[in-house]
Amino acid sequence: MNTFVYDGSSKDLQKAIDLSTKGEKVLCHKCGAELLIIASVEEEAKYGKSSGIYCPTDPSHIQIHFTLGSRRIRFWKEFAPHLLEKLEPQSPSTDNEKNQ
Ligand SMILES: [Zn+2]
Repeated sequence: MNTFVYDGSSKDLQKAIDLSTKGEKVLCHKCGAELLIIASVEEEAKYGKSSGIYCPTDPSHIQIHFTLGSRRIRFWKEFAPHLLEKLEPQSPSTDNEKNQ
């Protein structure tokens, strides 16, 4: 499996996200730990963090928060348009699910 050491620069941000979505490991440039890259609402729910890139060892190594709201959408259009559809809000859930 390929790995990519990410140094936290915006220049390589898209690359880090792209590789992560392909299942490749993106590693912290300081400690070599696999970075936690949260790039979908499903992962936000799973990890209880907002979208971003985090070093699991020490937040001071890498901690990037993707911007929220319209700026967040702009971010996704720029950096990961293929992921944007996952971020579009689903139609509001109703109580119908409970009845199924
Ligand atoms: Zn680290």
